[in-house]
Amino acid sequence: MIKLHDTHFKPFLSESRIQDAVKKIAEKIALDYKDQIPIFVGVLNGSFMFVSDFLKYYPYDCEVTFVKLSSYQGLTSTGIVETLLDVSEDIEGRSVIILEDIVDTGRTLQTLIHMFSNIKVKEFKIATLFFKSEIYNGEYSVDYVGIEIPNKFIVGYGLDYKELGRNLKEVYQINQTHMINLVLFGKPGAGKGTQAEFLKEKYNLKHISTGDLFRYNMKNDTKLGQLAKSYIDNGDLVPDEVTIKMLEDAVEKNPDASGFIFDGFPRTAAQAEALDNLLTAKNMKVDATIALEANDEVLIQRLLERGKVSGRSDDQDEAKIRNRFDEYNTKTAPLKDYYEAQGKFHSVNGIGAIDEVTHRLGKVIEEL
Ligand code: AMP
Repeated sequence: MIKLHDTHFKPFLSESRIQDAVKKIAEKIALDYKDQIPIFVGVLNGSFMFVSDFLKYYPYDCEVTFVKLSSYQGLTSTGIVETLLDVSEDIEGRSVIILEDIVDTGRTLQTLIHMFSNIKVKEFKIATLFFKSEIYNGEYSVDYVGIEIPNKFIVGYGLDYKELGRNLKEVYQINQTHMINLVLFGKPGAGKGTQAEFLKEKYNLKHISTGDLFRYNMKNDTKLGQLAKSYIDNGDLVPDEVTIKMLEDAVEKNPDASGFIFDGFPRTAAQAEALDNLLTAKNMKVDATIALEANDEVLIQRLLERGKVSGRSDDQDEAKIRNRFDEYNTKTAPLKDYYEAQGKFHSVNGIGAIDEVTHRLGKVIEEL
């Protein structure tokens, strides 16, 4: 077992297992490309070790270059991949083989394919050392795969956990101890976001707020943000298919989380079922749904106050706030029965000083 930052990892793939896979990919590609001089394109940072070992096993003439991409680390929703180092070589008319350390959802791959789509290459192939086939949802079929792995967070052999662990010769897997997954339930203004900020620190949980994700996307004017805007501005719920997909992406992007606080999700029966399905598929579950209770008049005052500083259009107009409450009463409130039937529903008085409410929540969580 090793520890990187504050997280424990256990051995997963040995050095010889990895070397064996690298060698096999090199041999296979060598067989296909022995009559030409291919250009290998490593995708930084993670692929540097793979590329280095791969080249040592590659017996024929070849060229090598690198591109550098990075997906946003902070908020999880966007899926935006940024190009930090572009293809520089004159690669027109050449056979290009991408060398990736790992392919998971396929988002980075999509960007790579796009990067090369304007260049008239002779052939474009993708090789990856590790492949999470379970969660891959790209259209392109990967040409050369080293080792298929389950959807667990891995580190080592070039791959990092918050920049540590790249120098390991073996690959390690997160050692999941007991997880807690919480749903914070309650009307707009009940204090879910405020409380989540405290709870995430106290219990080392990842906070996913669908409202925050939407606002982040609107601020950055992404497609998702444009799609959600009119609903949010009117205080209506965003359609389930959009919200569920966004939530799933946010969970997928945090395979190393030691638990989640879902804030503002689920808000409909379909979302609650989707959450259960998603977690079940990962051997996880909702441990508790905790409702923060407060009456409408208090909430309206809170939201109008918040609207003065937050600039949120949906907080500034009482009619919109009332519409959000209507949405809550018709679509979200029935979820109480859904979680009660599973014995997971808890209710906490949401009125009082912030730390008092945190204390009430903590009591529920510690009894789980
Ligand atoms: P919130 O910050 O949680 O109050 O969310 C602000 C707005 O984002 C809501 O009024 C909805 O328009 C949208 N939204 C947030 N979460 C969801 C969800 N789970 N389902 C549908 N719409 C949502």
